[in-house]
Amino acid sequence: MKVGIIGCGHVGMAAASAIFQKGLASELVLLDHDHERAVGEAMDLKHAQSYVSRCMVRAGDYEDLHESDYLIICAGVSQKPGESRTDLLQRNVEVLKEIVLKIDSTAPDAIVIIATNPVDILTYFAQELSLRPHHKVIGTGTMLDTSRFRSIVGELYQIDPKSVHGYVVGEHGNSEVLLWSETRIGGQKILENKILGKRISDTEVTEITDSVVNAAYKIIDRKGYTSWAVGFVIAELLEILKRDQKTIVPLSVRVNGEFSISGTCLGLPCVVGKNGIEQILNIKASDKELKLLQKSGEKLASLVSQVKI
Ligand code: NAD
Repeated sequence: MKVGIIGCGHVGMAAASAIFQKGLASELVLLDHDHERAVGEAMDLKHAQSYVSRCMVRAGDYEDLHESDYLIICAGVSQKPGESRTDLLQRNVEVLKEIVLKIDSTAPDAIVIIATNPVDILTYFAQELSLRPHHKVIGTGTMLDTSRFRSIVGELYQIDPKSVHGYVVGEHGNSEVLLWSETRIGGQKILENKILGKRISDTEVTEITDSVVNAAYKIIDRKGYTSWAVGFVIAELLEILKRDQKTIVPLSVRVNGEFSISGTCLGLPCVVGKNGIEQILNIKASDKELKLLQKSGEKLASLVSQVKI
């Protein structure tokens, strides 16, 4: 399986490392604006070759992405001093446009995973710009946020996060919504039941919500960027696609009137298999959560409408 990573910064290389360790690819092509950086990263990673399944790692250009099965876009530009978020968004859409046009000609059949932020808006424009069907252009959405949510709840109850069933939906960002009302451990709703001897308090709900929504800021304040968890998210998504697992994960998908939202992509639980996004699930949520989801969608749709392509 051939995988191309476009943008070999912190996120791209965390993803490359996770994919390499899991043995998911037989060929990994690293592409970056800064070609020498990609060459150095490829050399560094492939020197661990003797400890993982065989995988050819190399730096390359767009022609080297020919016949890739999956392409992962982690390329991004950061905010310049004095630049507004909308201007930054516009510049990132321009970077995306350049990339999408190139990959459409060199690897038209690949499934494309978008990780660059703002991921919901960039996924929407990648779908607009690409000739690929929408279900083959997938944003990582709230998969990372959901993993953060499950991990933190699991820690509170001292239980495996895989046994925590709950989702974060909406924007991958400030307006995201934690679906507390439907979150369960062992089939029991955590807001309504004492589970494993513990009843969650309102304070804990507020604190966990804050830890999830503001996780990126708290990490960036300390280390300057986030990378490891999103790298695992990307590798997990790739494994689901490759093995046709039909796993339900919350990804950035296009809405057409669902929850009274349209004109954007946003994070909703989807069934993922070898063809990409195979089905979007209808979520269960409280009235308050549904209102917040609608607000989150309206915020994203408004940002989408400000971009010029
Ligand atoms: P970074 O600055 O470390 O890396 C970005 C890389 O993109 C750089 O190496 C740069 O040279 C390259 N690049 C820029 N323009 C390019 C182009 N046109 N073609 C090829 N390469 C190009 O940034 P990072 O920390 O790796 O973050 C990358 C993106 O991932 C950011 O937008 C970040 O916000 C986002 N992110 C997303 C999630 C998620 O859950 N989806 C989580 C964390 C970070």
